Amino acid sequence: MKVAVFSTKTYDRQFLEAANFPIQHELVFFEPRLNRDTAILAAGFPCVCAFVHDQVDASTLEILAAGGTRLIALRCAGFNNVDLATAAKLGITVVRVPAYSPYGVAEHAVGLILSLNRKIHRAYNRVRESNFSLNGLLGFNLYERTVGIIGTGKIGLILGQIMKGFGCNLLAYDLYKNPDLEALGGKYVELPELFANSDIISLHCPLMPETHHLINSEAIAQMKPGMMIINTSRGALIDTQAVIEGLKSGQIGYLGVDVYEQESELFFEDLSGEIIQDDIFQRLTTFPNVLITGHQAFFTEEALRNIADTTFANIADIEQGRSCANEIRYQPEKALVG
Ligand code: NAD
Repeated sequence: MKVAVFSTKTYDRQFLEAANFPIQHELVFFEPRLNRDTAILAAGFPCVCAFVHDQVDASTLEILAAGGTRLIALRCAGFNNVDLATAAKLGITVVRVPAYSPYGVAEHAVGLILSLNRKIHRAYNRVRESNFSLNGLLGFNLYERTVGIIGTGKIGLILGQIMKGFGCNLLAYDLYKNPDLEALGGKYVELPELFANSDIISLHCPLMPETHHLINSEAIAQMKPGMMIINTSRGALIDTQAVIEGLKSGQIGYLGVDVYEQESELFFEDLSGEIIQDDIFQRLTTFPNVLITGHQAFFTEEALRNIADTTFANIADIEQGRSCANEIRYQPEKALVG
């Protein structure tokens, strides 16, 4: 099949070409993001391969449909950037890669926890400046601390397993209990109890209307003073302005995020030397107890291999008329956003 691959970075090309070698789809790589202005590039391509920051909105989909596109193969799990209602109306099938790096994301969350707690990001810079003072680097033992996990699916469970290894107590909140998390000793509680008793809160639920700004000023007020928030899920789970207020007052002691509400303007691009216009993001970067990474939690060799293999398996299913387990069906009553 002819596949137009958008938002291509060199690493995407490397892993997609390797996975495509035995299959021989006709891949054409485009560096720009997919949106209404660039969709015309896909004219004549029955399949478009898109990523998290591509804007697969109604107008983009209409241009794609007019150009003959019948399949959107997302090479990511979240699909909050796709207008599924319009895709269904235009007869465009949408498939995704639901799980490609649960270990990678959970391990990255642990990396943020350890770095923030033991101030490794600050120590790294100090030692390079020949400053060996320990002032300001005091951490705490993870042993017997309480970790609150919101969303105990694939990634949340693995985080629970790792933190259990450190000797942490686990609290959990999810719409559905995961028996594997309970088997670890994790205790499901309502959000107020999780907020009040967790030393570390880590977010692993999807972004949906009901989880938008789950961490807001009311939630922060219920938390233990000086606690740590980790978000490797989706930026808009957090009300960034409320978190900034919490950091300024000391109510939040540490913040580690791999995702940010307005990240599509920033992440995955080298903007060094440019003036960043996002004042909220810039304020976040000024706190010594905030660690931000640019949506890299998934970024492991295993994940890029899985993404490529699953994407081509999805395309093969649709091309050969088989049902595809990774097809995202439009469910108006759920109005899922990712
Ligand atoms: P998953 O589907 O296995 O688990 C999500 C869990 O969230 C499920 O148990 C579900 O029941 C729960 N949930 C749904 N609605 C909820 C609600 N209102 N409140 C609490 N829990 C709720 O997904 P996963 O593979 O564990 O991924 C979790 C999230 O991680 C994804 O939604 C995605 O946004 C994010 N992610 C980030 C990266 C990254 O690189 N930073 C990579 C992959 C995934």
